Amino acid sequence: MSVKYDYLVVGAGLYGAVFARLAAEEGRNVLVIDKRDHIAGNIYTKEVEGIQVHQYGAHIFHTNDKKVWEYLNRFTEFNRFTNSPVANYHGELYSLPFNMYTFYQMWGVTTPQQAEEMIEKQKKAAGIGEPRNLEEQAISLVGTDIYEKLIKGYTQKQWGRPCSELPAFIIRRLPVRFTFDNNYFNALYQGIPIGGYTQMVKNILDHGNITVELGTDYLVPENRERLTGSADCVVFTGPVDAYFGYCLGALSYRSVRFETEVLDMPNYQGNAAVNYTDSETPWTRIIEHKWFEFGGQDKTVISREYSAEWKPGDEPYYPVNDEQNQALYEKYRAMAAEEKNVIFGGRLGEYRYYDMDKTVASAMEKWEEISLTR
Ligand code: UDP
Repeated sequence: MSVKYDYLVVGAGLYGAVFARLAAEEGRNVLVIDKRDHIAGNIYTKEVEGIQVHQYGAHIFHTNDKKVWEYLNRFTEFNRFTNSPVANYHGELYSLPFNMYTFYQMWGVTTPQQAEEMIEKQKKAAGIGEPRNLEEQAISLVGTDIYEKLIKGYTQKQWGRPCSELPAFIIRRLPVRFTFDNNYFNALYQGIPIGGYTQMVKNILDHGNITVELGTDYLVPENRERLTGSADCVVFTGPVDAYFGYCLGALSYRSVRFETEVLDMPNYQGNAAVNYTDSETPWTRIIEHKWFEFGGQDKTVISREYSAEWKPGDEPYYPVNDEQNQALYEKYRAMAAEEKNVIFGGRLGEYRYYDMDKTVASAMEKWEEISLTR
């Protein structure tokens, strides 16, 4: 390689793209590579029948971080989509997240006081003190009925582990509200990029100091040798254990398989997301992509999501931050800290269940840290 880059960014997802842009705007030359034949990582969207299909799972941007919101608004305009998934438990429908509509549907209660009493009663009957895992956390927040119908089956399908073996923080992602409000997120800013996430990432990468090379897998030894020598510093956004050749053993990830269909009808389920919260239905949720926008098309595109344990060759989606994996990650993190001129970032590089806004914030913080120490 004749060109000398300041940074080689491995992975053209959100972390890599934002980092590359920040560095490029301060005069650095950046090479961004990705093993896939497209940019945007798992937020990649592709137009099918005039509908932006979220190819690697639904992504709804939401944040309370004004700096992140304003930054992304330089590269895209967001629509005003509000996420309100519906839960389907054996044909019974419930509103999500857990709010007064859900409590009314579950128990017929009509006031916040009645809902709070019901939850308190169920929590007491279950004998829950300080929650030690997801099951105890869920029961202490919403009681046993909601846990049994809306959380237990879905979570066990999603994570392939019993709720009693999962960390409590996973369920604290969802709001519990004693108001009639089906907005899934407590966020000041929320929406979907108009024109798709791929276009947004394309705009972020569109800078004279950034070169993008697709279809190049950094972890193939010849590529690694050739590319590492081409830059002063590597920003690695792939799985941290893969970087080290799984030398301490593989971290667990959850993978997702999608069955996507184009249907010759304008409206399949009347909502962007329907979660199947029983344990018998094999998929976790069905996404109807057109409802992330205003959906006037004659056809519709739906994706059934099936969760599975990651095995070599699959795409990793979610880190499994249980105690055992967290302990193993700490060892990789120590190795990563010793690695000269390599930055590990993003959901896979840091083994963290990052939302998109946290991913952007983390890339911004990393760049700030670098700028301050130079
Ligand atoms: N969850 C649940 N029932 C639902 C939706 C979510 O029990 O209908 C739990 C489940 O454990 C899930 C977690 O809440 O893993 C976080 O859900 P979120 O929607 O944030 O997951 P993501 O969209 O990141 O897959």
